[in-house]
Amino acid sequence: MDKVNILGVNVDMVNVAEAADAVMGFLDENKFHSVFTPNSEIIMCAYKDEEFCKILNSASLLTADGIGVVYASKILKKPIKERAAGYDIARQVLEKTNNTDHKLFLFGGKPGVAETAKKNLEKDYPDLNIVGIRNGYFKPEEEPEIVEEINKSGADIVFVCLGAPKQERWIDSHKDELNVRVAMGIGGSLDVFAGTAERAPEFFCNHGLEWLYRLYKEPWRIGRMTELPKFAMTVIAKGKKYKQN
Ligand code: UDP
Repeated sequence: MDKVNILGVNVDMVNVAEAADAVMGFLDENKFHSVFTPNSEIIMCAYKDEEFCKILNSASLLTADGIGVVYASKILKKPIKERAAGYDIARQVLEKTNNTDHKLFLFGGKPGVAETAKKNLEKDYPDLNIVGIRNGYFKPEEEPEIVEEINKSGADIVFVCLGAPKQERWIDSHKDELNVRVAMGIGGSLDVFAGTAERAPEFFCNHGLEWLYRLYKEPWRIGRMTELPKFAMTVIAKGKKYKQN
């Protein structure tokens, strides 16, 4: 897969359908794959933290979640056609795994969220095999138990929804113990499946304004969002120094 190097992070130049196909391919391979979908804040985080940058680059698939990342790729003259958000990839993967033997584990969100997400997903995809759920609030000493729960369930794919960068770090630190074939870090997706959070209306998504809608709904994100202009300026100032493949 062709990649664009954005401030050291090698993002795959794939759209949602291509990303979902790649995930389905991973499910047929007998090894572990991680899938991360960084937005501009997360790429800035990796820019400032070499160890986290390595974690992102170790993923089997790294997609552009957010218009900021798509714009950055254009600035770097290796344009990604469209954003491939974790939630959208997950939807297509669910569509494709419905009617198959693949087993899914939902991990993350506040207590009750994964339960409701499971119920809603089973309505949407009646033949989906959800073999386990676990909320995303735990003490470090509970982590081995969570890994065991996922492994015992026989899941071959786990949605890890702890928010970024926690979920990427969690997946990375347990990749050698997890028996799944795919671990996808997809942030607040369980909240959307559960109906406890809404996705931005289509107009905002289609016009690259999802961030504006999120800011309106969750004004406390303003702090995190100041990273966006910093990201754009850093890509313009430093982006060309990173070698493209
Ligand atoms: N979350 C969690 N455990 C934590 C912190 C967060 O399960 O220790 C969940 C939180 O309940 C929410 C999701 O992670 O469902 C983060 O959602 P957000 O939209 O903030 O993440 P993003 O998509 O921006 O990374």
